[in-house]
Formats: sequence, structure tokens, C-alpha cells
Amino acid sequence: MSRKKSQSSGNKPLPANQQKGEKECSFCHNHKKLTEFYISKNPLFSVDGRVPVCKDCVINKSLNEDGTINELELNKILKKIDRPYYKDLIESAINGFKKEHSYIEDDKVSFYGKEILQRYFRLIAMRQDRDKSYEDSEKDDFVHKTSNTPQSTKEKIAQKYADIKENKLYKNEQIKQESNIKWTKDDKQNMKYIISKLGYDPFEDVGLDEFDRKYCFNLLSGYFDTPGILEDGHKKQCVIEITMSYCQCRKITDELNTELSKLEVNEKRITSLTNAKTSLLSSIANIAKDNNISSNYSKQASQGQDSISAMMKEMEKHDFEEIKVNLFDIKTSEAFRQIDEISNTNISNQLTLDSSEYSDIVKEQRDLIRKYESSIDELKEENRKLKNRIIDLEIDKR
Ligand SMILES: [Zn+2]
Repeated sequence: MSRKKSQSSGNKPLPANQQKGEKECSFCHNHKKLTEFYISKNPLFSVDGRVPVCKDCVINKSLNEDGTINELELNKILKKIDRPYYKDLIESAINGFKKEHSYIEDDKVSFYGKEILQRYFRLIAMRQDRDKSYEDSEKDDFVHKTSNTPQSTKEKIAQKYADIKENKLYKNEQIKQESNIKWTKDDKQNMKYIISKLGYDPFEDVGLDEFDRKYCFNLLSGYFDTPGILEDGHKKQCVIEITMSYCQCRKITDELNTELSKLEVNEKRITSLTNAKTSLLSSIANIAKDNNISSNYSKQASQGQDSISAMMKEMEKHDFEEIKVNLFDIKTSEAFRQIDEISNTNISNQLTLDSSEYSDIVKEQRDLIRKYESSIDELKEENRKLKNRIIDLEIDKR
């Protein structure tokens, strides 16, 4: 809802274009003409109807060092000066700028953040949004509800630009990743090696997180080291494919472990996850076999070793402990270590375990764990009582 015109104060500021005089910017402390400050209808700024920070400061605070728009900062400052954040208007501002500066290449346009934002502020000063507050735009989920733009375009625009709400999540995610995922020197070297050999980053824009990317680079560099791969464009694509399939496999294993660690295991889900994993592994094996990648995969592989065990070896070499189990407590991981032992620690051997066998083993382990857990609890309780008894006895002795 748009704000009603202030009824409380009788001194309404003069119309914007008639305002004269100067004021000090509360950020850069320069004295500037009133017209150098953006208009806001927020009652907090009702003395002159203008925000306390000058236009230059508002815009500069919303830019990155390279001149591109920092959408999050823009969000924050718009919230502070209580002006709306509309992603569709940012899009319009960019398009308008492009049209007027057709000589600027499309991929360079984003560096003109200042000019784009100046346009943006002109757009939100127009009749449709003149009286809107930040909250108004927030209620619209930052895209105008009432425009002729098709819904699909609106959704695209909504995803294209960041806003405070979604970015909270994104940021947490990033902090989580940054703190957990460390790229060692070797990791970085592998990444550079891959990119230099391919001329591009094969794991960009495919929805991988940091951990997966690192995993993929390390695995792929093992393949690239194998003679005959780099010279063959088709094989190169095959090993990229294999690498990403392994990455998916790892995710499935994670999910499988999470599911199995629950008290109430969803057998259907286990079956479908196990099937998915099995089919991934066999498609990996097929790609490898069809393209003769398996036999000469690893220099260190002794003869007769199949490709999968060799790949496992490679993963282990790269210290991917995490591919095993990482999502639950020590006791359950211990259980999985045992299951792993039963299946000979080799994924290819796991292939021969069908899902029902697998879940049978896990069920048994789980029952054992529960049994031991309850006996631990009983023993603890007994222990506690005994300790109390000792204390009582000692008190009695005195
Ligand atoms: Zn300023």
C-alpha cells in the first residue's frame, strides 16, 4: 500500500523542482544542493522530503569496486532511504542504457553500474512508483505485479537479481561452504591444470557446489594424466562425463547414508537411491569400457584391476575420505565401515549387493546399535545410582 500524504504536519515541503538551498550529506559531509538528494516519502525525511544521504553516496554505496551493481548493497540502502527495489526496473534501466549506448558490448554493460542506477532512480521517481516505499516493493516480491510483462519473464527477472530475503540463505550457504571447503595447493593446481588443458572450466554453471567442484577437478586430473586421453577429444568428453557421474554417485551415497541413519527408514527411497546408484555406476563402467578408458586408466594400477577399483584408488589417493560416510554419528559410521568391509570396500563389489541385501545388513546393524545404546543407558543409570550409594555410605560413615 502506498503511503498517504502526511496529514500531521502543516509544513509540506515545496514541490521538488522549486526547492532551493543546500544541506549536508550525512555520509560524505559535503554541502550539496537539495536537488542532489533523492526524494523519499518516508515521514522520517519529511522536513524537506529528501533523504539525508546525497545521490552520489547512495549510488557509490550500491556499487562494487569494478563499477558493477552490488544488488545486496543496493537493497540495503534502498531499505534505509525507504525507496522501492524493483528488479524489473533494474532490467529496464539496463536495457535503456544498452539502447542508448549501443556501441558498448553487451558483456561490458554491467560495468556501467553508476549510469544504470541513475536511470533506475529516474524510473522509481515516475508516477507509478513515486509514492512507493521499500516495504511496498517487498510485498510485491520485488517485481511489479501489475505490468504487461509475461509471468515467465517476471520469474526470470526475479531470479536474475538478488534480494535481501533470498540472499540471507545464499550467504549462510556460502559461509558454510567457505568454512568447510579448503582448497589445498594440490587442489588448486589440479583445477588450473584442467582449465589450461581444456581452455574452459567444465564444472562451471553446472550447479556444483565448492566441494563437488574440488572433487571433480581432482578426479578429472587423474584421468587427464593418463596417456591417450588428452589427445582424443572424444575421450576427453567421456572422462568429464564419468567424473560428473561419480560426483552424482557420491551425492546419492550421502543421501543413502542419511536415509539409513534415520530411525524410520523409508525402504522405497532406499531402493530407488540404490537403483539410481547402480545404474550410474554401470553407465560409468560402460562409457569406460566402450571408449577403452578403463584398461589404461591408472599408471599405478596393477594388471587385472578393473577400472572401478582403479578409480576408487585414485579417489582415495586424493584424500576423499568424505566419499565414504560423513553425515552421521560415529556409531553409525562405524556400522557402515563394517558394511563396507563386508562388501570388500569396493564399490564394484557393492554392485553385487542388491538393495534388499543392503538394507537387511543395515537393519541388522541398526538393531544392534539400538540394543547397545539402550544397554549403555541402563549401565549409565546403574552407575549413577551406585555413585549416589557411595556418597550416602560415606556420609553415613562420618
Ligand atoms: Zn554524500
